[in-house]
Parts: sequence; structure tokens; C-alpha cells
Amino acid sequence: MKTVIANWKMNPLSLNEALNLVKKYKIYKNLDIWIAPPYLYLIPLITKFRKIKFGSQNIYFQDKGPYTGEISPKMIKKIGGKFVIINHSERRKIGENFKIANQKIISVINSNLTAIVCLGEDKIIKNIKILKSEWQKQIKILFKNINLNNKSIILAYEPTWAISTYKQGSVSPEIVSEFIKFIKNLGFNNKIVYGGSVFIDNIKIYLDLPLDGFLIGSQSLKPKNFNKICDLIDKSI
Ligand code: PEP
Repeated sequence: MKTVIANWKMNPLSLNEALNLVKKYKIYKNLDIWIAPPYLYLIPLITKFRKIKFGSQNIYFQDKGPYTGEISPKMIKKIGGKFVIINHSERRKIGENFKIANQKIISVINSNLTAIVCLGEDKIIKNIKILKSEWQKQIKILFKNINLNNKSIILAYEPTWAISTYKQGSVSPEIVSEFIKFIKNLGFNNKIVYGGSVFIDNIKIYLDLPLDGFLIGSQSLKPKNFNKICDLIDKSI
């Protein structure tokens, strides 16, 4: 079963738009559709759409207490959320880091939710040795005191530079393939998804890779495009 994770980021502006967006998503037999909407829409969406898994784009690593403005994984679990995205580069841009992400992964796993852990280089690195040492560095901090093969972990290889906001294109399938080999060599046996500028016209280049799915940002807000991308993934299974 492949998984397509829709990261809506801080969109859309109203609950009505959110409900309409999900209504337009196709449901597949062999493709899991997971949606990470803004926190505010989680309860109504979880209540209304039973065939889709919903989760959050972030959490705080404590269960409860004096942490103004934060939401805990236990709260996400209690309302029926299934997963949390951790270490997205847009979180790092506003001050988070890999050490904080490490604490978040632990708290998400302890709450019996799936942790979708983003990682990847910030800038384009052409030298493969340097690239691998960057991946190694990130993994070391992210998974300190965590079993890399904990079944609650999904890795999202998503280099910051490849996110569509930066208009620098997507990662070549060769490099994605190197990443998969690299991580498997470390003994990682869980799911790996790719994220970064996935569109209708480039999804095909990734379909032969041993990936378990995709993390999709901008195109997940355009249901026609999103469905078309999912159709192509579905056909390739
Ligand atoms: C993301 O930010 O998680 C993402 C994958 O974005 P996009 O698909 O727009 O590159």
C-alpha cells in the first residue's frame, strides 16, 4: 500500500473550503490518502470523512501543561488523529531544530501516532560524499535514543531547496535512489516517502523507485491536480 500525504500548510482560510477540498479528493483501494490540515479543521474533518486519515503538521513534545499556544500528540490522538509531520523545513525556518524534532519524534511515538519525519539538505549539494555526510549528520540528531526501525516512523526525504515555494525544481530520481540506498544501509526498514515539487508532469520519474509514497504540498490544494497525481501513482502499483 502506498501513501500520499497532503500537507495543506496554513490553508485554506475557512472550514467550508476545507470541507469542500476533501470532498473533491478521490478515494482509492490501493492508495492511502492522508491529510494534514491546520489544527482547527481536524475535528470536523475527522468526524465527516471516515475513509481518510488525518494528522497534524506539528505538535509540542509535552503531554500537557503550561505551554501557551501548543498542542500535544496526546490531544491529537484523543480526537482521532493518526499521524504528525515533524521537522518540516518551514518549522525550522521559524526557529525549530533537529534536537527539538528528536524530542517531538519521541513524544509522537509514545502517543501511538505515526511520526512522519522530514529530513534532507537545505541547499543543493552536488558532491555525493558531502551529501551523504549531511544526511548522516541529520539522522544522528533526529534519531538519538530512538530505534530507527520503530514501526511508528515514516521518513520523508524532502530537501528544503526542492519545495515548490523556492522554484528550484525537484530532486532527481538518481539522488532519491541514493537516499533510499543510504538509509536502507543504515538498517532502516520502514516506509520512505519523497516530497518536494511533485507535480502531474514529473510524478512519473519517481514511480519506478522503491518509494512508499509521496508528501505533497502545493498540489494538494488543487484537487484536480492532486487526483491526477494520485491516479498516476495508483496505476503504477
Ligand atoms: C512540502 O512543503 O511539504 C511540500 C512537499 O511542498 P511542495 O509539494 O509544494 O513542494
